[in-house]
Amino acid sequence: MKHQSNERNFKDPVCGMEVSRITASDELEYQGKIYYFCATSCREAFESEPEKYIRHHRQHGIKQS
Ligand SMILES: [Zn+2]
Repeated sequence: MKHQSNERNFKDPVCGMEVSRITASDELEYQGKIYYFCATSCREAFESEPEKYIRHHRQHGIKQS
């Protein structure tokens, strides 16, 4: 069954804030994954050092349900 219309929350990898597709200011595809950001400044920070933020994020694991 598909539930793609449900709004999911994503974590802004830069500041840790929860955002959804609606509330996100910016989004960026990196290595096949879409990341959502609360603000353009967060996206720019991610773009300049994506590995730094991805590695930090992985320490906590990504919950998917
Ligand atoms: Zn942010």
